Amino acid sequence: MTTGRIHPLPLYLANQIAAGEVVERPASVVKELVENSIDASADNIEVTIEGAGRQLIRVSDNGTGIHPDDLPLALSRHATSKLSSTEQLGMIASLGFRGEALPSISSVSQLTLHSRQADQPCAWQITTDQDPIPSAHPQGTMVEVRDLFFNIPARRRFLRSDKTEQQHIATTLNRLALSQFDVAFRWQIDKLGAIKLPAAISQPQKLQRIGKICGNSFVRDALYLEQSYQDIDIHGWISPPSAHRAQTDVQYFFINGRVIRDRLINHAIRQAYDGLLPEGRQPGYVLYLTLPLDKIDVNVHPTKHEVRFREARLVHGLITKALQETLNTAQPPQPGFDSP
Ligand code: ADP
Ligand code: MG
Repeated sequence: MTTGRIHPLPLYLANQIAAGEVVERPASVVKELVENSIDASADNIEVTIEGAGRQLIRVSDNGTGIHPDDLPLALSRHATSKLSSTEQLGMIASLGFRGEALPSISSVSQLTLHSRQADQPCAWQITTDQDPIPSAHPQGTMVEVRDLFFNIPARRRFLRSDKTEQQHIATTLNRLALSQFDVAFRWQIDKLGAIKLPAAISQPQKLQRIGKICGNSFVRDALYLEQSYQDIDIHGWISPPSAHRAQTDVQYFFINGRVIRDRLINHAIRQAYDGLLPEGRQPGYVLYLTLPLDKIDVNVHPTKHEVRFREARLVHGLITKALQETLNTAQPPQPGFDSP
């Protein structure tokens, strides 16, 4: 190993290193771009994927758009419109806040962004390292990411088959669509059929969306659950023990609108089903936990899939109890059945 003199990393290299954490594969780009559209209050989001995301990822929305003067900042590291003080860092309501996604993505792809705010006479477009120029685009933002990892051969080699990458993208979009019922989504992943999900406001509309994503059998069997404790609410749909599954494919958990994969949550849910499922079988669930912003820390990992709870045991207990009570009322214990 050579240890020479110390020098600051060139900006492009710092961005590529940051991209290593945030942009693992095409699906990560989809997640970051769609989250930006949601943060921009879009109620219509369209996604087009070509070449399993290697050739093209396009996300367009009808959100607030970006001020033309801010366009270069949107592609700069640590530049964000979502956070301006340490106090706010403890109370994050938006999905993004790190100001890292766009510069990271643009450091490992050919990125073009078009955006127009409602009060602007025209749209503007920006491409990495170039000045903004006027463009034609309705209100909102469209980001096109081409040739992902063209300059990072090692990363490109790590990508899996088209089918696998397409599946990761579909899973990501399914999660996002379940996280925001009031947003209409449309996506087209290569030649796979287009998915159209109109905004779902009423309960039947929500169930329709859940059916499209989780399968109609999940919806048919699902038990609805709704409980509150102090300022923590949980609601959603869980499968009865009889509708157990081989896979973990219908396991969605959202906290304050954010997709979360968390060991504490998994453990709490498993505990509620303890002794009710045959060995190795999985429950299905689509659950939404809402709690005050200052009770969780979302600044744990760059991808923001993990959180830290201020009152972890309380949250764990509430989830287990809510599920147990729902399962109990739906399934009175059979005579001779030893419930745990
Ligand atoms: P972050 O989301 O953490 O702020 P990003 O790099 O993802 O960082 O985006 C940088 C900034 O660009 C955002 O703070 C936001 O102001 C703006 N932006 C990005 N995408 C959109 C979009 N689809 N609509 C409106 N503004 C956007
Ligand atoms: Mg973002």
